[in-house]
Amino acid sequence: MNNDYYSHHFKKSLGQNFLNNKKYINELVDSLEIKNDELVIEIGPGKGYVTEEILKRTNKLILIEKDDSLIPYLTDKFNKQVKIIHQDVLEIDFSEITAKQPYKVIGSLPYNISKRIIYNLLTNTHKPVQISLIIQKEVAKEYSAKAPKSTILSNFASLHSDIKLSKVVPSIYFTPKPKVDGQIITFSNIAENNINSKDLWRLIRIGFSSPRKILASNLKEYGKDKIVEALIKLDLSEKSRASELTLVQWEKLYELIIN
Ligand code: SAM
Repeated sequence: MNNDYYSHHFKKSLGQNFLNNKKYINELVDSLEIKNDELVIEIGPGKGYVTEEILKRTNKLILIEKDDSLIPYLTDKFNKQVKIIHQDVLEIDFSEITAKQPYKVIGSLPYNISKRIIYNLLTNTHKPVQISLIIQKEVAKEYSAKAPKSTILSNFASLHSDIKLSKVVPSIYFTPKPKVDGQIITFSNIAENNINSKDLWRLIRIGFSSPRKILASNLKEYGKDKIVEALIKLDLSEKSRASELTLVQWEKLYELIIN
């Protein structure tokens, strides 16, 4: 595995830090719980070190890689075993490439666009069944935070899925070594879009718009008195901040405001 790394010109702009440790590659692939013949999409295969492990568990695999220079290498290495899409993952239509079949997603992501990738995966019209990723450790913590220290990302993620954090991947296990550690995160039980979740998400977003302000001030466009009244009904302080509410409390707040 090692000699192979040095024949590649790493592109910082594409967040290229390749996993160099089998144990963590296996941890990532295990966390996706691939069953025989499930369709899997790998985002950013790089030189295919994670890909090799995925292929031990399924033959239905699609790779999405933006770097031109890696395409001939991947084509040569995996030949006809996988479908390789040379495109920016942010422009992918998942319904089209999967022909609307169920699918799972895996990737050791470029850290700089990980939030946008996760947003697209959880909100697109044809959603994955499960997603396992390596993202920056601090960002993984933001997705899994809980009230009273919840974040906009943790609310977004729990609105759409169940989240599980697994192993931290120390920065030394990537080549070249990044400045920060990674962490494996899995999104499962991914929910379908519905009208209510869109409006609820709008409420949460506005609630978090100025994190230092109390919720009633951030949500004044819904009527400050109405918000205070609803918070009291929910046994919450009228001075509550967005981070202190659980998703269930956000749902109840939404019900009280719209009725
Ligand atoms: N999975 C590989 C590994 O660990 O050995 C590489 C992971 S590296 C952190 C991120 C990969 O995503 C790189 O191969 C990079 O070229 C690719 N990439 C970066 N931006 C991308 C984009 N917008 N669309 C698709 N692939 C992208």
